[in-house]
Amino acid sequence: MGRSEEIRAQLLEKLREETIETIYNAWFAELRVFSIDEVLDIAYLGVPDLPGKDMNFIMSILRNRYSHKIENVLTNIMGRRFRVVIKRVEEYEDETDSLKHQIKESAASKHFYDNSFDPRYSFDNFVVGDGNKLAHAAAFAVAESPAQSYNPLYIYGNSGLGKTHLLHAIGLHLEKTKPEMSVLYVSAENFTNELVDAIRKNRTYDFKEKYRNVDVLLIDDIQFFGRTKESQEEFFHTFNDLYHNGSQIVISSDCEPDKIDNLQDRLKTRFQWNLIADIVPPDYETRIAILLKLSEANGLTVDEELMKVIQFISEIAKANVRELEGSLNRVVTFARLFNEKITLAFAQKTLGSSNVERRAGVTPERVKSVVSDFYHIEASDLESAKRQSNVAHARMIAMYLIREMTDSSLPKIGEYFGGKHHTTVLHACKKVENLTESSLEVECEIEEIKGLLGR
Ligand code: ADP
Ligand code: MG
Repeated sequence: MGRSEEIRAQLLEKLREETIETIYNAWFAELRVFSIDEVLDIAYLGVPDLPGKDMNFIMSILRNRYSHKIENVLTNIMGRRFRVVIKRVEEYEDETDSLKHQIKESAASKHFYDNSFDPRYSFDNFVVGDGNKLAHAAAFAVAESPAQSYNPLYIYGNSGLGKTHLLHAIGLHLEKTKPEMSVLYVSAENFTNELVDAIRKNRTYDFKEKYRNVDVLLIDDIQFFGRTKESQEEFFHTFNDLYHNGSQIVISSDCEPDKIDNLQDRLKTRFQWNLIADIVPPDYETRIAILLKLSEANGLTVDEELMKVIQFISEIAKANVRELEGSLNRVVTFARLFNEKITLAFAQKTLGSSNVERRAGVTPERVKSVVSDFYHIEASDLESAKRQSNVAHARMIAMYLIREMTDSSLPKIGEYFGGKHHTTVLHACKKVENLTESSLEVECEIEEIKGLLGR
């Protein structure tokens, strides 16, 4: 099963668990997962054209009433906040829409192929702050004069702090300034895969030739070597050869040499021969500077409102630069998708920071006030004994929602409505439950009110 299929299966299973059957069959059963962008954390869902159904209506219900629910379910499955875009399958198929294209590209180009340097990962695009000053200075010195300053250069830090960026920056700089040099970038994982492949195909000679004849070797995520003995062994010899030939070696890892599990001591010793530079998460000012730079690169005008958004993101995304950039990218992408202005409120909504507060705010009083507004009646009518059909309908819906969304007991709910008997409340709740199954209109009303309540 492909990844999209796997996610689709999980998504449908969860939706089935969480909704009654009629709703599930009416709205979710046909959903397809068209593609998943794991960089921007967006799932593109599609609905096939259903014969005899009003597709515009179906799409509007899915987008307006259920996208929130689908997002929550997907967020649970993926383990991080996901957004969904729902379109008709047809729309994807004849989509020449440039935006979709752009998003795809941005996602794809994040996965580097060895030995091609991503032009965005230049020194110019690297924002220097206290947390990465040393690593940046050392990387730049190496790029200016390989094998003459720090050799080997060992850079370490948590994921998303710019190690790969610096390795690429060295490569880009050398490509420009010393095109005659052979510079090779490889992740330790790919180094290992290539080695295994070479052994299988009896091509170890070619493998050695490739790696032992470069002027600069940039090797990323060396902690991966902790997993395999053969590749450590091979890397040890590669390292020695290169070093003795006067080649530059730059290494990145997620921790200090000492702390890499299962790494031979003699390799640890080699890594400690020269400079070890760490990178720690950026401080607030640096986070702002990074987002400003990114905004510029995206062609955004930095006005007062965007500055508020940048400050907001800098406050919530502290752990690493990937998360920081991801948050801004998500806001920008969604603003484009939904034709919205990039405002603080939109950013907060998109990044979901206020979800928790909103959900916590569901009280019987709020339900009563939102429901009476929704049906254009007075809140006091809900507590009265009026039997007018619109009032009775609103009252019954309010009872049902309080029952579902707060932990009030039936007698307590009765009290909120002017002292009604608990069997009256029970009767109302049952009736609404039945209606949600038989009446699309009621089902939609309820979803809409829940939306207003911020669920
Ligand atoms: P790592 O390899 O340490 O996991 P990356 O180099 O992949 O991290 O960086 C993650 C993202 O953050 C990349 O898009 C990178 O361009 C960006 N980034 C990291 N540090 C900086 C920085 N100081 N200035 C600008 N962008 C940065
Ligand atoms: Mg990396």
